[in-house]
Parts: sequence; C-alpha cells; structure tokens
Amino acid sequence: MRWTGGRRSSNVEDRRGMGGVVAGGGIGGVVLLLLALFFGFDPGAMLDTEPPVVPGGSQAPATSPGQDDLRDFVSVVLADTEDTWHEIFRSLGREYREPKLVLFTGSVQSACGMAGAAVGPFYCPSDHKLYLDLDFFRALRDRFRAPGDFAQAYVIAHEVGHHVQTLLGLTGDVTAARDSGDRTRASAMSVRVELQADCLAGVWAHHARQSRDILEEGDLEEALGAAAAIGDDRLQRESRGRVAPETFTHGSSRQRVQWFGRGFETGEVRRCDTSREAEL
Ligand SMILES: [Zn+2]
Repeated sequence: MRWTGGRRSSNVEDRRGMGGVVAGGGIGGVVLLLLALFFGFDPGAMLDTEPPVVPGGSQAPATSPGQDDLRDFVSVVLADTEDTWHEIFRSLGREYREPKLVLFTGSVQSACGMAGAAVGPFYCPSDHKLYLDLDFFRALRDRFRAPGDFAQAYVIAHEVGHHVQTLLGLTGDVTAARDSGDRTRASAMSVRVELQADCLAGVWAHHARQSRDILEEGDLEEALGAAAAIGDDRLQRESRGRVAPETFTHGSSRQRVQWFGRGFETGEVRRCDTSREAEL
C-alpha cells in the first residue's frame, strides 16, 4: 500500500502504556484467545464492567520505533477512511462524523466496558470509538497467517464499517436478539452485521483505489487473505476441530471474502445490505 505520503488523522488517541486492570480477569486464557477472533464485538456484553483502575495520566506511552511507524500507518489509513466516508455521506445527503481511534496496550476502558488486548480490535457504538492494540497486527501476521499492510488496513476499515453502520442506523437489533436468549437468531443477526462491515470495508478500498491510487499489486489479495483467515469456519476448525455454523458470529471465510469483494467491486453502500439477502 502506498501510504507514506498520506494525510495523518487527528483522531488517533494514544493510550498505550496507560492500561488499567481488566475486569473479569478470571476468564480463562483460552476464552480470551477465542474472543480475539471476534472483530467488533461489544465487550460490555461479555466482560464485567466493574469500575476500572484509573490510568495514570503522567505515564508516557510505551512505544518502540517499529510501533511508531505502525501508529503512523494507522493514522494514514484512518484519515483515508475519513476522506472516503465524508464524500460518500455527502453523496447520500448525510454528514459523516469522524470516529476516534484509541491505541492501547494491555487493557482499555471504553463506554462499552473494560476490555483486554486479547479481545482484538473492536468498535464501541456508545462512544463512537475504535479500539486497537497494535500487537493484534502481529497476531494477524503470525497466528492468522495474513501478512501485509493492506490486511491491517482492512481490519481498521472493518471497524470503521461498524461506525458507518451506527451512523446510518444499519446495525439492526443484535442486542435485542442476544437478550432474547434465542442464540441462533442472535448468531444469524450478528453474521449479517459483520458481513456488512466487511462489505463497507470493501467500499472504502474501492474509493481509496479510485481517488487516491494507494493500492499496490497484491494489496487486494492481502485483504482477502485476512478476511478468509478470520472466517468463523476456519477459526472453529483450528480451535475445536469442528465447525458449528449455527454459532457463527462473523460468517465463514467464503462469506467474508465475498462480501468484502462485493463492496470493493461496486463501491456502493446500498450493495452492502445484508438484511435483504435470503442467502448470504
Ligand atoms: Zn466486526
């Protein structure tokens, strides 16, 4: 991805080195690791929301040279999503409000509750912020075998996709479905929301390529590789040795690749309406 000359976003909030204590720390490591596979889940629904340890304000963020490059990269990708979504929202007669992106290490307090790095990147609709531990990118490369800067950009764009859903009121009532105790319905609804976020990430990539020509050879494959790597079927097969589609939260590898691809090919938000599709 050609990003070094790009605009930096002013919406990055660096809270690295300021972590508190994760509430609900009794949850086993295995469970947390599994949670890491969920992009954009609502930590408030899964973790205790005890009052956090207030982070010390005087601590400097823990950074290393490589991480500063990464911070720069994140800031450019975020800026690019801002430019793209401002333009798209204008064309829809709407106004785009930019989300904040919080970088953290260890654990972080959001309006959706306290979350540890192991939960992976997530978006909190209550405070309109994206939360990202840069170590996740290392996991993406090593554990999920999805290397490349555009794989990372896809992760950010997916979380921004959740923000877009929130602004446009597209999320549906996943919480109500979850609260109803009907797990199959909640799972199906969650999959539709997540695939839509993948599609919206694709819409961003489409416009980023067209307007700013930032995609290089192989970038699309990196994003598709990441989408496939974090499909529920592949993750379940790897972690449990079997696949249970009725428990999917994000969709299969094939579905994730397909919906990202649909957004990327068309560049149109209306093509991302997963609620209208009988079959995903
Ligand atoms: Zn998500």
